[in-house]
Amino acid sequence: LSKAAPQIAGLTPYVPGKPITELERELGITGSVKLASNENPLGCGEAARAAYAAAAAELGRYPDGGGFALRRAIAAHHGVEPEQVTIGNGSNDVLDLVARVFLHPGLESVFSEHAFAVYPIATMAAGALARVAPARDFGHDLEAMAALVNERTGVVWIANPNNPTGTWIAAEPLRAFLSALPEHCMVVVDEAYFEYVDEADYPDTTGWLDDFPNLIVTRTFAKIHGLASLRVGYGLSHAHAAELMNRVRHPFNVNAPAQAAAVAALGDREHVERSVAHNQQERARVMAGLDALGLDSIPSVGNFVTVDLGQPVGPIDQALLREGVICRPVANYGLPTHLRISIGLAEENDRMLAALARVLGQTS
Ligand code: PMP
Repeated sequence: LSKAAPQIAGLTPYVPGKPITELERELGITGSVKLASNENPLGCGEAARAAYAAAAAELGRYPDGGGFALRRAIAAHHGVEPEQVTIGNGSNDVLDLVARVFLHPGLESVFSEHAFAVYPIATMAAGALARVAPARDFGHDLEAMAALVNERTGVVWIANPNNPTGTWIAAEPLRAFLSALPEHCMVVVDEAYFEYVDEADYPDTTGWLDDFPNLIVTRTFAKIHGLASLRVGYGLSHAHAAELMNRVRHPFNVNAPAQAAAVAALGDREHVERSVAHNQQERARVMAGLDALGLDSIPSVGNFVTVDLGQPVGPIDQALLREGVICRPVANYGLPTHLRISIGLAEENDRMLAALARVLGQTS
């Protein structure tokens, strides 16, 4: 153990939520609703399910290590070349590949306060230094981030929208930020929640790849496509950056049923539209419900809302768990009085709002 890499020994681990079965066993309850991981409450579409089942009939063969069909489908979807695509075991895997290729001891990465938890982990695991810019209105302050960029900066991480705050960055400031960055510095625009955003000025940065050779855009099948359990995500970049990342990518990092389901999901626009419509309707209702409880939530464009309970979240979270409602405290993101609540089915959201009202001592 004494030979463990020092950057790993000093790392604070990402703590995943407890499995529902374990939680319920501890609390002696059943029938909980889980609004803790920003999943699609509608699950995946029928096409993805059928493709998964067909591929799962043949488990004895290795998957296509190059992800040929999946990369081709992703490239066609975005109007880029397959050589620009890096597939990952979830987009987290792609974030890790970015860090392994573009960060090492002596280099730094820059990200925002309250930004996604994997950026510091991937940075530190690569032996690089994390430089954290203060947030503005809970979102990214691009000026503060730019001020931290120097000749040692290997990667800048930007989540658009951000998890856990649900904040977003408009096209113009983001483009100006990218234009001002030195070319030696890679910039990841993490668009895990891309499809949920319905704002006129919100950019699809996959259309900017020709302009910025240092840009890497990441997307996932875990959110809008409802395939979180299968772990598929991807990065789009200049072919040279993709080629570097594919050098260190484990050749079978995305399994065969997952590749098949992802190809089918990409072609199922109806499921995407249905999921977006559900989220818009329910997010508005959840935000109004939280407002009616007198709580401030951070305006969110994602499939979750992060609400300020005005007091340490631990006891409220515990009480909610006993009520059978599982949400996500975000103290580890520097937000000790906030709770992140994923948008669920209508009846799940109703249960959450009623439980929160009871727990906060108000009648529902
Ligand atoms: N980026 C952001 C901003 C996220 O919130 C998440 C999921 N929590 C991910 C990336 C990773 O998603 P996955 O690995 O499931 O694709």
